[in-house]
Amino acid sequence: MQLTDAEIREILARRKIQKRQRQRRRRRNTLIALLLIIVLGAGIYWFIGHKGKLGKKGSGSGSEEKPKAYTGEIRGTIFIDPGHGGMDSGSDDDKDRYEKGDTLKLGLAVRDQLELLGFKVGMTRTEDIQVDRTERGLMANKADAQLFVSIHRNKADTGGDGVEGFIPKKNDKESRMLGENIMHFLGRAGFTERSIRAGTLQSTNDDYEENAAASMPSVLIEVGFLSNAADNERFDMNLDRNARAVANGIDLTFMEIYEPEKAEAYKKVIEAADAASKDVTGKVTTATEELAKATGSMLPAKRESTGAGIDPQAPAPEGSDDE
Ligand SMILES: [Zn+2]
Repeated sequence: MQLTDAEIREILARRKIQKRQRQRRRRRNTLIALLLIIVLGAGIYWFIGHKGKLGKKGSGSGSEEKPKAYTGEIRGTIFIDPGHGGMDSGSDDDKDRYEKGDTLKLGLAVRDQLELLGFKVGMTRTEDIQVDRTERGLMANKADAQLFVSIHRNKADTGGDGVEGFIPKKNDKESRMLGENIMHFLGRAGFTERSIRAGTLQSTNDDYEENAAASMPSVLIEVGFLSNAADNERFDMNLDRNARAVANGIDLTFMEIYEPEKAEAYKKVIEAADAASKDVTGKVTTATEELAKATGSMLPAKRESTGAGIDPQAPAPEGSDDE
């Protein structure tokens, strides 16, 4: 049958309307889909962010979230001495890196960690100034500090890496405990453990001025060698972890001397970690690290090799320069 012009126009007009309606529907569907994608995306983003935060809290890394401030009673007073300062820049790496800067950086970080553990912390210096070495020990006496830790870094002409410490020549058990605990925790943080020695680098019958002046258990600890690139990297990359290690060594020693009931529980955790790591020859195992995470601290290395007795005076690294 033949359509009239009017009928054809009407059909075309109707088709146009239908087409427009289809387009409108399509546009509306696209808009809804877009909205859904945005809402879903935002939801996933929030979820991942939230989960991430929770995970971090669990691992105790504390790099982004500030750890809770200590609100209990002050447990005691610790004195931290960042070695050298001012005109006395200490050792260097033969370039523009100086011991005095490293010791201050670590010293301040250790102070922060100790405060979180409930200690009042005194500092011999908090900026780049010169302080007499005997005066540093006397400052600790004046503050009635219970432990004194002088932070240094080592240097050798050839070879040499890791941590070593010097305690008073009288070689008292408590100073030795302090030095060894700090060294063991730093060992867990990746440094080689050398030895804790009574006296000075040159003589067992001499004392570093800080150790001679301080009347409480004390140690002068050398946190790695400035002359060793790997030690410098360990020092820089893990500053917080190293600070926690030093603080944990101090914390454990404080418990052993002044809070023995706490020390027992803490030591059990350490023993469990050591037992768990026995399967894997001498290495820090996942189990150990998990335990460390669970206790929010780093665990010291196994202690079989280091009794409370006198440590064999390990040979000095060639050209070792501890001032
Ligand atoms: Zn030094």
